[in-house]
Amino acid sequence: MKKRDDVYAYLYGGNVYINLTNRCCNNCEFCLRNTGDGVGGSVLWLNREPTAEETVAAAGKLITPETKEMVFCGYGEPTYRVDEMVEVAKFAHSKGLKTRLNTNGLGSRINGCDITDKLVGNIDTVSVSLNEANAQAYDRVCHSIYGADAFEEMKKFAAACSAKGINTVMSVVDIIGEDAVKECEKIAKKCGAKLRVRRYEKKW
Ligand code: SF4
Repeated sequence: MKKRDDVYAYLYGGNVYINLTNRCCNNCEFCLRNTGDGVGGSVLWLNREPTAEETVAAAGKLITPETKEMVFCGYGEPTYRVDEMVEVAKFAHSKGLKTRLNTNGLGSRINGCDITDKLVGNIDTVSVSLNEANAQAYDRVCHSIYGADAFEEMKKFAAACSAKGINTVMSVVDIIGEDAVKECEKIAKKCGAKLRVRRYEKKW
């Protein structure tokens, strides 16, 4: 049986999404990976992580004059591949696209060093999943391998991105409740980030 081809780039909502890795240090209760194989008809499990060149080749085929943004999202945490992501982001900018990183905010911990300098000038918007209003609640939902440290690490990352001039957004879903959302507003403000509150939509 022919092995299916890996999807390194795919279209979603008119943007080009990049799938560099399936690795993740969290195991969130709500992760799409627990309930499916991909997004919008694309199977996103990888047989092998792509090189930057392979990713650029795949992404390049999807860009049209209407494409506005390239999003590093993946079926995993993109910052495991920070160097490749930066290479692909440079390509996106050369094509006139904006770049966005959707992240759990643990990239500096994953890489064992502050990666935010690498993002400056290459990633226009960083969207960090805040998810919850405190470390205990975060751990209950996200089950990070970094345990109780993860929440602080994530906030530190968002604050560093914001301090370095990157448009930084922290996101939560309204299912956490009004009080928690209010607390998250304070956290985002303290990190110098905007808060995006998404409406809960049951998908399964
Ligand atoms: S951080 Fe993202 S990829 Fe990782 S488990 Fe959570 S939802 Fe899934």
